[in-house]
Amino acid sequence: MNAYHAGSCDVAVIGAGHAGIEAALAAARLGQKTILFTINLDSVGNLPCNPAIGGTGKGHLVRELDALGGQMGLAADACCIQYRMLNRGKGPAVHSLRAQADRRAYQNYMKHILEQTPNLELKQAMITDVSVENGRVTGVDTMLGAHYDSKAVIIATGTYLDSTVITGESVYSSGPDGMHASVGLAENLRKLGLPLRRFKTGTPPRINRRSVDFSKMELQPGDAHIEPFSFRTDHVLENRAVCYLTYTNERTHEIIRENLDRSPMYDGTISGVGPRYCPSIETKIVRFAEKNRHQLFIEPCGLDTEELYIQGLSSSLPEDVQIRMMQTIPGLEHAEMMRPAYAIEYECVDPTVLLPTMETKLVAGLYGAGQFNGTSGYEEAAVQGLVAGINASLKLQGRDPMILTRDTSYIGTLIDDLVTKGTEEPYRIMTSRSEYRLLHRQDNADERLTRIGFEVGLVSEERLRQVEEKYEAVRRECSRLERSGVPGNDRLNAMLERRESTPVTSSARLADLLRRPKVTYDDLAPFDESRPSLPADVTQEVEIQVKYAGYLARQEKQVQEFKQAESKRLPEDLAYDSIAGLRLEARQKLGKIRPLSIGQASRISGVSPADIAVLLIYLEQRR
Ligand SMILES: Cc1cc2nc3c(=O)[nH]c(=O)nc-3n(C[C@H](O)[C@H](O)[C@H](O)COP(=O)(O)OP(=O)(O)OC[C@H]3O[C@@H](n4cnc5c(N)ncnc54)[C@H](O)[C@@H]3O)c2cc1C
Repeated sequence: MNAYHAGSCDVAVIGAGHAGIEAALAAARLGQKTILFTINLDSVGNLPCNPAIGGTGKGHLVRELDALGGQMGLAADACCIQYRMLNRGKGPAVHSLRAQADRRAYQNYMKHILEQTPNLELKQAMITDVSVENGRVTGVDTMLGAHYDSKAVIIATGTYLDSTVITGESVYSSGPDGMHASVGLAENLRKLGLPLRRFKTGTPPRINRRSVDFSKMELQPGDAHIEPFSFRTDHVLENRAVCYLTYTNERTHEIIRENLDRSPMYDGTISGVGPRYCPSIETKIVRFAEKNRHQLFIEPCGLDTEELYIQGLSSSLPEDVQIRMMQTIPGLEHAEMMRPAYAIEYECVDPTVLLPTMETKLVAGLYGAGQFNGTSGYEEAAVQGLVAGINASLKLQGRDPMILTRDTSYIGTLIDDLVTKGTEEPYRIMTSRSEYRLLHRQDNADERLTRIGFEVGLVSEERLRQVEEKYEAVRRECSRLERSGVPGNDRLNAMLERRESTPVTSSARLADLLRRPKVTYDDLAPFDESRPSLPADVTQEVEIQVKYAGYLARQEKQVQEFKQAESKRLPEDLAYDSIAGLRLEARQKLGKIRPLSIGQASRISGVSPADIAVLLIYLEQRR
């Protein structure tokens, strides 16, 4: 088909999912003429899997994205209907916000924001080709024969690239929720040299609320005290929905075992690699055969719908088996299925061909973001989209790139894991992935990243000033508590006793009292006459910084060591093959990844400390 010239832009974004949205908004807000393409405008900001934002580690990503000037946090606070802080019983490093989102409201919110954003055009079109000249992108072509010139292209195709949907014996070309699959583009990207591979993910059935017997389930209400996702949210949030908890049982497991021969997971139909941390129910039955029940959370999909999502029952078993397995579950005996569970296979790129800016090493001006890069999850996708959108813009403006390293954030950890170590399955963030999780908490994402957001141009000066004032107040209060003492007396000791803490005989410093387990900042209020009145987000920080001062200092030291290794830059044109003493595996891995620093080189699997020593000596000799 002869392409006609349909227009030109600075940044073309392929895909209006969670990655594409953040990429397009960032580029447009940084003054780039941006076009955002999607196969179907009704899929903008779709939540094809769990109708929820956040979760363990994912809540951290949303807060970090918000501090940098991204949109997901504000969208979540505008459209979420139930909030829970996970791991509240554990230390602040693993506190993770998770909220049920109204799926339709979330999509409408994001689509409306995109439609109103200056410099940004939203278009329904399937991109089939990325055009390249002399190793640099020049534009995109659509299925209807339109060509758009573009100086940068961001691929955020999610779970649509050559995707197939699988339910039992039924296998057909489709995107999620009956949307059209992306056809043609994968072939074009392979021709450009991008190494694509097939991944898979799955989702559970949706059922009608009227068919559920909630009396057989445990109510899961939202938190009494709600913390927002966005540091910029100033309206009061409320819980407007509840979830429920039920369980599978031996009868459910039996039905699944009896039908494993009809399971696409076990009869060879599915070849794509699935997410280890979101297994299908049939995989759970096989992998954890000793377990006699598995948790299922019944989650609302929105306020204006009767659709319920059964978290934990993801599957690709035939529809008739799905119905029979649901009928064994307490409360779902008469469940009315509205949408069957299914698995989806799709093409995605090996992320080791990407730089930490999300630009490909192979084609200048071509970026990858989201599920296309091998991750799984709305939040993981959104942060990559933001980084790609920012860096495509900075490069077009001739400015230095924004590279978030592991010592700054979970975003930095996620991107470094992808581009340095790669991933053989859909990558999901978890707090255990960060070496510095006590430093990289949800609550202090604004302290760590707002200035970076300001410097790239996405955060206002006023916002930066507010954050700096907040942490100045935190510093002042921490040092006041270190300097201030209180005399030991019966009232104080009564409080300490209530907190199972040893009474004091003479006087004690407020900071030392606060460092005691179970003693809170509020507990000390009656004994602290000169206490200033401070907002909750400041006192929360004060409590954490005083209580964990020792651990925080230790992690800060580790960060300094990390920065030192990162500061040892490696020339981009280093001929690893010619460095004597390097083992063959190390030469191959270093030659493929082309690390930017000694630090990054040391994180490549297959590169040993001995190889790093050889590299350091070689660099010294070269110098
Ligand atoms: C069935 C299913 C189950 C899932 N289960 C989980 C799970 O258990 N846990 C989890 O964390 N995540 C899960 N996810 C993943 C989650 O949905 C994605 O991680 C997230 O949506 C990825 O965001 P994205 O922006 O990368 O892509 P998507 O949200 O998939 O958006 C892709 C966008 O690209 C557009 N597009 C694609 N190709 C083209 C083209 N050629 N031209 C124009 N536009 C194009 C589409 O129209 C769409 O707008 C699941 C997804 C699906 C579909």
